[in-house]
Amino acid sequence: MTKNARSRYANEFSPYQPTRHFIVMKYCSACGSSVELRLLPDDNRARYVCTACHEVHYQNPKLIVGAIPEWQDKILLCRRAIEPRHGLWTLPAGFMENNETTAEAAARETLEEANAQVAIGELYSMYNLPHISQVYLLFRARLMNLDFSPGSESLEVRLFSEEEIPWETLAFRAVFLTLKNYFADRKTGDFQFRIGDLKPPELSKSVRAN
Ligand code: ZN
Repeated sequence: MTKNARSRYANEFSPYQPTRHFIVMKYCSACGSSVELRLLPDDNRARYVCTACHEVHYQNPKLIVGAIPEWQDKILLCRRAIEPRHGLWTLPAGFMENNETTAEAAARETLEEANAQVAIGELYSMYNLPHISQVYLLFRARLMNLDFSPGSESLEVRLFSEEEIPWETLAFRAVFLTLKNYFADRKTGDFQFRIGDLKPPELSKSVRAN
């Protein structure tokens, strides 16, 4: 998360969960009037409610969807041209858009970040990051051809064998864990769906952020 993005977040008091992750909101996106935090009847946490039109602005987690593009014994990775983690390597992945399926999101992100065409396969891993209200979904995918190049959000795109994976300069823990599991499973040929919960970096033993 960039410094600017971080400043948009704050811990707001709620009677039931005193340190929740909130995107701070001042004005109603429907009418422009000011909003305030309220605990609504039969609800269990504070919500932003418009003081004029009474619209309730619910906040829910975001899905980050991506692909593990395979070509023979290699995997396609992208080196990030954007924050956070500029310059580090990752699987092609990004925020799911409205009106698309998760598989479509994974294919679209791969096309946008690597100009690469993939056939999306099985869902391989899911990681919950409740401290930042994100869920990662990563699919196995077959690279259709070798016609790929960096998209606008990538500095570099290339294929890596297991021995070449830049473990020390991977951008995200979910990607690190997914690739570790992937190469372990590939040795047995038995790819097992994995699900995990990632704590805030300061609470986890890993030094890796996010
Ligand atoms: Zn309003």
